[in-house]
Amino acid sequence: MSSKGEHLGWGAYSPFSSIRVRVWSFDPDETINEEFLYHKILMATKLREALKIHEKSDAFRVIFGESDGLPGLIVDRYGDIAVMQILSAGAEYWREVIISAVREITHCKGIVERSDVEVRTLEGLQIREEVVWGAIPPQRLQIWENEIKYWVDVIGGQKTGFYLDQRENRARIRELAKDRDVLNAFCYTGGFTLSALMGGANSVISIDSSAAALELADENLRLNGLNPQQNQWIEGDVFRELRALRDRARKFDLIILDPPKFAPTAAQAQKAARAYKDINLLGFKLLQRGGLLVTFSCSGGINRELFQKIVADAALDAGVDAKIIEFLSQSADHPVALNFPESFYLKGLICVVS
Ligand code: SAH
Repeated sequence: MSSKGEHLGWGAYSPFSSIRVRVWSFDPDETINEEFLYHKILMATKLREALKIHEKSDAFRVIFGESDGLPGLIVDRYGDIAVMQILSAGAEYWREVIISAVREITHCKGIVERSDVEVRTLEGLQIREEVVWGAIPPQRLQIWENEIKYWVDVIGGQKTGFYLDQRENRARIRELAKDRDVLNAFCYTGGFTLSALMGGANSVISIDSSAAALELADENLRLNGLNPQQNQWIEGDVFRELRALRDRARKFDLIILDPPKFAPTAAQAQKAARAYKDINLLGFKLLQRGGLLVTFSCSGGINRELFQKIVADAALDAGVDAKIIEFLSQSADHPVALNFPESFYLKGLICVVS
């Protein structure tokens, strides 16, 4: 209700959270019940079908929280297994209903819950990680995306196991990589590395701080019959490794920077801006003339405009003349609700250095 007594909508109240109410519906005549949730989940599933994502991959996001009218609920599909993340008290309240609706609508064979993210504690919820229903998935599931196969660890991996939001951008790297010497910083399980090699890259250096991710990445490389000689995995800190490469005067024709969220919220924006500036400056310095910098930010606290400004500053300080040739974003199974602009979080730029 507003202060004037007008009905504003139906929402889930969470006394512990800084977001006190998450709105289920702005329609005063709506009833939030099983049927309501079932309908939303069905609509979300139908949207993905209409987008024909299944032609590109058997792994995709089925439900993307607020963007699908289901605040605090994430459901990703990895073949026959659904991985669910409940991030808000409202979604938690309807957990059982959500589970049976996901089962019925997606025809999955098993559901894993990965409600193991920090934000849950802000909602006063416990961390929960378990097989909720059905087939217990093997430690590693195999998925395919754009003709590339990947092992995904849905239980121990980051997020729900794979960075599904980068699907289209991985495909783009494949198109751009031919005959290039590539540097893939923050490589996780090798998505951009494999895409570059499939696209005919000359060589790749891939850096990540996670030994577990790199182990899977190496298996992914072999799974696709790619030549391990053409790639070097470096387990290390990207900030340090980029400096080490610069000190050795190494040069690349294509550099990918896909760091983790440096600024989850606006409060960390300033510190994060320095980190983005740092890696992008080093990225520009490591590029050959005519080389491409493909740089991302998935930080909610940094908007597209600010990100572009940081990259512009980095180019200036690196002393290079660069221009943006493409704007990249999250894949279509991560839609952006117009009334929830925060859901537009993945920003990417392709810059060419002349
Ligand atoms: N591009 C990847 C996803 C990258 S996610 C894909 O398409 O799948 C970000 C990665 O950065 C994670 O794998 C994390 O382990 C790694 N990471 C985080 N901080 C790091 C640091 N300081 N140095 C190196 N890697 C880091």
